[in-house]
Amino acid sequence: MQENKNSGFDYDTVVIGAGVCGIYQAYKLAEMGTRFLVLEQAADVGGTWYWNRYPGCRFDSESETYGYSFSEELLQEWDWSEHFAPREETERYLQHVVDKFDLRKHMRFNSRLKSAHWDPERSGWRIVTDDGQVYSTRFLLTAIGLLSTPTLPRYEGVESFEGLSFHTYHAPRDPVDFSGLRVAVVGTGATGVQLISEIADKVGSLTVFQRRPNWCAPLNNSSMTPKEMQEIKSQYNEIFDQCRNTPSGFYHDVDPRKTLDVAPEDREAFWEKLYSGSGFGVWLGNFKDILTDSDANAEFSKFVARKIRQRVKDPKVADKLVPKDHGFGTRRVPMETKYYEVYNQDNVLLVDIGDTPIERITPSGIRTSNKEYPFDIIIYATGFDAVTGAFDKIDFVGEDGLKLKDKWEDGPQTSFGLSVDGFPNLLTLAGPQSGSVATNFPRGIEEAVDWSSQFLGYLLDNDVGYFKAKKSAEEFWGQHVQKMSERILFAKEQSWFTGYNSNVDRKYRNRCLIYAGGQLRFREFLKVESLGGYPSFDLVSLDRQQSSSP
Ligand code: NAP
Repeated sequence: MQENKNSGFDYDTVVIGAGVCGIYQAYKLAEMGTRFLVLEQAADVGGTWYWNRYPGCRFDSESETYGYSFSEELLQEWDWSEHFAPREETERYLQHVVDKFDLRKHMRFNSRLKSAHWDPERSGWRIVTDDGQVYSTRFLLTAIGLLSTPTLPRYEGVESFEGLSFHTYHAPRDPVDFSGLRVAVVGTGATGVQLISEIADKVGSLTVFQRRPNWCAPLNNSSMTPKEMQEIKSQYNEIFDQCRNTPSGFYHDVDPRKTLDVAPEDREAFWEKLYSGSGFGVWLGNFKDILTDSDANAEFSKFVARKIRQRVKDPKVADKLVPKDHGFGTRRVPMETKYYEVYNQDNVLLVDIGDTPIERITPSGIRTSNKEYPFDIIIYATGFDAVTGAFDKIDFVGEDGLKLKDKWEDGPQTSFGLSVDGFPNLLTLAGPQSGSVATNFPRGIEEAVDWSSQFLGYLLDNDVGYFKAKKSAEEFWGQHVQKMSERILFAKEQSWFTGYNSNVDRKYRNRCLIYAGGQLRFREFLKVESLGGYPSFDLVSLDRQQSSSP
């Protein structure tokens, strides 16, 4: 690997973010021997797993499919304690990876990127952090997370509450003692559902403010025995192979049968098996048309509705927990552990704010249209300005003064979710519309990072000092992303997949934030790019740049 000739830059490459994606990118850049820096706004590595310290936080990926696949030694030395590991363990794992591969020396913490401006004279980026540090780099890579910009509700009085209140993303570092306290949780997405299940028996009273119910399904987590861990260690090749060959990067692959082609009793038996199985099988391992055909989806939704009604004793409460406005799996399925049973507890109250909207937050609690509820703690599990929110917080200015925020005003436009016309030498790892954002995250980002590293290697080896996505490639990708999302029922639903968030003003039209075509198709596109010499990009060599400069 050659170092860039006469670059005059502080770094060949700067990576923004030291979460799951940024860490792996750092590993690859260190292996390539380039000059690089990772800037991280937090005080340590971990990204999602650093910030989300709310009780009950864990991933819904089978633990052994969440680790990095690049080092056999790492795979063999790490033991997961549960089939779906809790946040603390994943954070420890990521710290271990960073220490093992001596990556910390390339990282600067407490460094939030404020701006990144394209410098046309030097063909690189000038970047500035919150604390006023300025860096120059030829290439800039973002690994800034999909769900890293939390959004509070815009109710009046949020600031006026005199008890403890926080968004789940900013949960206190020290565990909160909930005993005897009156606790409110606003929001019932994947986060709220984990939190509610975890704290319901630890609080004095719990009041859940639900706007729209979600279809939740059992995670069926359990401890990992040493024998199971041993077996996993002997099968990592097969495990990663299996994950590489499903659209989602999980174990689970769709059943090739169509729902209504299967006899009702066989269907029921299959669904019972899925419902009692662990992880996302119930969502991603279901009949092949569950997420594409409304009639098939309605049948399975009825099955899950029956389960909810069986599990919740009060029929009126059960009815409030059954979604009526969307079918199963057309928004992200929250995975739960005894979530529905929580509503059978005497100390838990469900407030349907579809019926009685929240009017304001008061100094002592929450006032709805029919009642004021006093609380000691209010926890907002109200979600994120997903996927593009983290980009909007940085002042990206590309060629001819173009601001990324303006370019993406109606929704993101990218080539493969990795590159943006008008923003040369920038790779948006796991950016909007990339295949990595709709998969088992580590599996997806390994794909993007491997491809990006190979691309960077090509640029450095060939003295290419400038690359940019072609406009035609971006237009093609936008249409393809839209086409893929329309084949799936979730394109019509309001969720973070489609850029919906009632707590931010921006409204994207016909723009899917994720790539619904699956990782197999995505991988094919990337492969064609590399084998074809990167036809979707304009590439300019350093020599040509130098000879054409005035
Ligand atoms: P989310 O899915 O966007 O859910 C936000 C919840 O807050 C929804 O119930 C929403 O109601 C409600 N809400 C938002 N604004 C509100 C307001 N102003 N008033 C009342 N309610 C409001 O966010 P999330 O639960 O944090 O999950 C986001 C994503 O993070 C997940 O989809 C998942 O990808 C990831 N996640 C993963 C894991 C895991 O791996 N296990 C765990 C947690 C989260 P509406 O539905 O009516 O909008």
